[in-house]
Amino acid sequence: MTDTTSSEPQPPRRILFLFSDTGGGHRAAAEAVIAALEQKYGDAVHCELIDVFRSYSPAPFKYAPELYPIWIKRGKLMWTLGYHMSDRRGQPRMMTFLVRSIWRKFKQGLDRLFQEHPSDLIVSVHPLFNTLAMVSLRKLPQRPPFVTIVTDLVSTHAFWFNRHVERILVPTEPAYERGLKFGIMPEKMRITGLPVHPRFASSLLSKPDARAKLGWDDKLITILLVGGGEGMGPLYHIARRINALKLPCQLAIVAGRNEQLRDNLNHVAWNQPTHVYGFVTNMPELMAGADILVTKAGPGTISEACMAGLPMIISDHIPGQEYGNVSYIREHNAGVYARGPERVAQVVQKWLTEAPEQLRARAENARKLARPNAVWEIAEELWHYANQAPVPQPAKPKRGSAARRRFPRFGFRLRK
Ligand code: UDP
Repeated sequence: MTDTTSSEPQPPRRILFLFSDTGGGHRAAAEAVIAALEQKYGDAVHCELIDVFRSYSPAPFKYAPELYPIWIKRGKLMWTLGYHMSDRRGQPRMMTFLVRSIWRKFKQGLDRLFQEHPSDLIVSVHPLFNTLAMVSLRKLPQRPPFVTIVTDLVSTHAFWFNRHVERILVPTEPAYERGLKFGIMPEKMRITGLPVHPRFASSLLSKPDARAKLGWDDKLITILLVGGGEGMGPLYHIARRINALKLPCQLAIVAGRNEQLRDNLNHVAWNQPTHVYGFVTNMPELMAGADILVTKAGPGTISEACMAGLPMIISDHIPGQEYGNVSYIREHNAGVYARGPERVAQVVQKWLTEAPEQLRARAENARKLARPNAVWEIAEELWHYANQAPVPQPAKPKRGSAARRRFPRFGFRLRK
């Protein structure tokens, strides 16, 4: 623990965040927490954000940030299969083999990462780095405390839950239940909500102010279309279907980093006022100015929309990790799932024609799901663990002993 009685100035507590730009959500969560830590603890904290795939992994993993959107789009079936095969407590033999082969490729990079970036606390905001990092850290006589911030909302993959870490912060009750199912002790977990950047809440203008700032029509109902950071899903076709209906509304479409999508959208002859954006840094303004959000089921976007009180039409989801988000929003009546561009356009038309109270009720339900304090609660948790003493390694169970069989090196049982 930091000695608070000493008058010597303490060196800043070093917090190392492990993430990767596979989608926009992991970076968004880490940056949100770092901003809160810096606002709350100032110079007393020093944070580093490392893209483990990009900076410390061999090919082809180092290209994961570029490959991820392509894989999700073109290899949906393989992704779904791999996701479900690995998402269980007892891994089938094939998965054991895969995890071990992957581990061999990562080993040197991770060892180098922890040597080059000594820290007082390690925080993972990515499911793939929890177990791999713990295996690497196991070789040291002592290691910094390790905290996992789960950034999937509901269908949280087994890889998020490693029993050896000190703390696991989960966004929702269903994610907590999954942690229990994967053998995490209740006292190790806490439901905090998903961290949303502190700037988000403070930049939420009133609707008229946001629209004036954005140059949007202040009378028309506004539909905001987003496909995550990468502009994924059939956004182009959805926008075209809505356009064909010639509805009394305006559209704001965020193509994210998908330049091709942005270019295609800029060549459409729009029947209503339409604003096309690339990657935006003013999402709170866009959400504050909008009335309806059409989005894929990204956890970051959903959590932000809840804070902005924005009812959602979920048009798409990444199989596996985003599946549960759809039912979460539907069950709380904060939005609906509409599969395919035709269906989305029909729902938009229906929502525009029904009584405005219906839209207001959905907006209120979305707001009820928001956890604006999540980022501050998480920052406090991390500060607490950053001030804890390093964790000594437990004695290694002997080869072949019952303990070794029960609690193998990967932190979860690899075989049934
Ligand atoms: N985002 C952004 N600018 C954009 C598009 C998205 O800042 O142009 C942010 C969005 O506000 C959210 C994150 O990127 O915080 C997307 O995360 P989400 O979990 O919804 O989807 P992912 O991209 O991870 O699949």
